[in-house]
Amino acid sequence: MQLHRGLLPPNHERPERLRTVLARLRAAGLLDVCGRLQPREATEEELLAVHSPGLIAAVAALSHANQPSDLNQVAEHLSPDMLGNRYTYRAARTAAGTAAELARQLVTGRASNGMAFVRPAGHVAGPDTGEAGSYLNNAAVAVRAAQAAGARRVMVIDWDVHHCKGTSEIFAEDPSVVVLSLHRYGSGFFPGTGPAEHVGVGRGRGRTINVAWCPPTVVDKRGRRIQVEAPPIADGDYLTAWHMLVLPVAAEFRPDLILVSAGFDAADKDPLGELVQGCMCEL
Ligand SMILES: [Zn+2]
Repeated sequence: MQLHRGLLPPNHERPERLRTVLARLRAAGLLDVCGRLQPREATEEELLAVHSPGLIAAVAALSHANQPSDLNQVAEHLSPDMLGNRYTYRAARTAAGTAAELARQLVTGRASNGMAFVRPAGHVAGPDTGEAGSYLNNAAVAVRAAQAAGARRVMVIDWDVHHCKGTSEIFAEDPSVVVLSLHRYGSGFFPGTGPAEHVGVGRGRGRTINVAWCPPTVVDKRGRRIQVEAPPIADGDYLTAWHMLVLPVAAEFRPDLILVSAGFDAADKDPLGELVQGCMCEL
């Protein structure tokens, strides 16, 4: 997972993120007091529970692709900026498989809690497409692995500053999975999905919850409402969303397992997100 390197700008996703986290945990002595799971690749069955064979084959093709034009033949599944290197497919399968294994250990009682430090990210990857550095959806694969191990209801909380477009799409019609995302929305912020009014489809209606932080709007001289640049939202606002929505939803849904897609790019001073003043460290 530390050998994969993609084409995205270096601030977005790079091996050093994982190395830095592990170095800090080691320096603090935390790695020594935690049980360690052996990383493993996701099985074909685990991936097919979430993704189409076409997307899986497209990600596999990255091992032999050297330039963006090589991806023309899989363009329906991956955009040219998804070019990786010969380690990308294995890294993506290992990220998904390790998350799945942790979920399985939690559901079967072999562990009471845990964190999967994995890369590449996955929450933008949908059933049939990967984009923005997300090749395979780690959280979604973990949800299905948890259910295969006996969990009936699973809740996914995604506090990454970007909407979990793929996770949301995968479970939109599934009443057994709540997907609750807190993210920036509007003014062209990527990926542009996840408005508050999207609540799920069919039997999954009510199981999709979007806390979409929109920039404030002003009325210009012609009477048009336009969005303006906004400072990070206050800690009080962000924590209110947790106390008034996230925790009550969890209490009502009573999930057998809660998975957190814990991207920290919503933190103040993050070059991409800069959504929340300072309370990300409290989470
Ligand atoms: Zn993000």
